[in-house]
Amino acid sequence: MDTKDLWSPGFKLVSFDQLGKWKPITIDPNIPLERSSVCFACGSALEKIAALVNNKKDLSLSLGCCTMCGIVTYIDRPNQKWLTDFYTHTWDNVTQPIENIAIKELKKPRASHFSHIAKSIGLKASDSILDIGSGYGGTLAALAELGYKNGIGLENSSHRAAIATDKRNINVLQGNFEGEITQRELHQRKPFDFILSAHVLEHIYNPNEFISKVADLQDVGGHIAIAVPNFTGEHAINILLFFPHLHSFTLTGLSCLIQKHGYTVVDVSRSTANELVVVGKKTKRATSKITHQENKVGKALQKITLELELQNIKPGKPYTIQWHTQHTKLKHGVRSMLATIRKQVSSLIHKHSIHREPIHKLTVEGLLIRKTSAPIEIQFSDNIILFYK
Ligand SMILES: [Zn+2]
Repeated sequence: MDTKDLWSPGFKLVSFDQLGKWKPITIDPNIPLERSSVCFACGSALEKIAALVNNKKDLSLSLGCCTMCGIVTYIDRPNQKWLTDFYTHTWDNVTQPIENIAIKELKKPRASHFSHIAKSIGLKASDSILDIGSGYGGTLAALAELGYKNGIGLENSSHRAAIATDKRNINVLQGNFEGEITQRELHQRKPFDFILSAHVLEHIYNPNEFISKVADLQDVGGHIAIAVPNFTGEHAINILLFFPHLHSFTLTGLSCLIQKHGYTVVDVSRSTANELVVVGKKTKRATSKITHQENKVGKALQKITLELELQNIKPGKPYTIQWHTQHTKLKHGVRSMLATIRKQVSSLIHKHSIHREPIHKLTVEGLLIRKTSAPIEIQFSDNIILFYK
């Protein structure tokens, strides 16, 4: 039998050398977990691609890939209540007073996507717009400049909602989109002609429920525009360990999800390898149907394996995994590492100078594990640690 059938590549996380803006979050065995082995977008089976395992081996979180649409998502994850508490109490715990934030810092380049989309779908100046996850209000401000002034934002973070209202004069509801109070308020203002949401859906516990609620706020003919990171360009470590991104989307998966709730996909032309931007138009009935026969799971595994160079893993050998906004590199040994890091650092910083985010660096130890639960295994020296920022 081929040894490949018996052994899985992986690594043990030894130390977190440079985390940039990332912060560690401990997933201990007391956190209540929930399991789903079915894809929320297309209903097909999820196949395990990676397992995160603590040192006692009594807790294992699995990530799965949808066999039909290729979406990657957690199979086991903390339950919704725990996650809501995390977002309320830990994430985005910002104390900076509103007056200290200059409006120029608030500029959001993403505004242009939705401005172009508003024009391309023929949105009229008086048409109503809802931005779910409106943040600092950049997108709505840009739309207002173009004459689309009938916009309202929805933002969970109270300080972001306050900044958008105070500094940008944007009409913002503060709350959780799926929450009862928010839903009641939104239903009083419906129908919305254009609902947009940028980089929110990958954080949402139940995207199916989210899109269903979006669809309830629109009449036939209304448009949605959803932007999320694209699995193709999202780096492997981000997919495996960046906790707030609960899902990594593919174009097939995202299209399938909105079609299921009655939308026809009308434009995906603004999508890139790093970001999916899907525009849908509401019709009378659901049309979702996947005909792809390509091996989605194999492709996802190949991407992660290549980015982390797991094919070169040797048991017990130290490696450094370093990554920037879009890059992941694994370097062998310490001596060769220093020379290559210098080269790497300068070229990456040059390439991504606009972001000016520091490079992340982890030290790991190569592992070959007798294949048990998943094709890739990541072990932790103590509890499972995930990251957020
Ligand atoms: Zn799927």
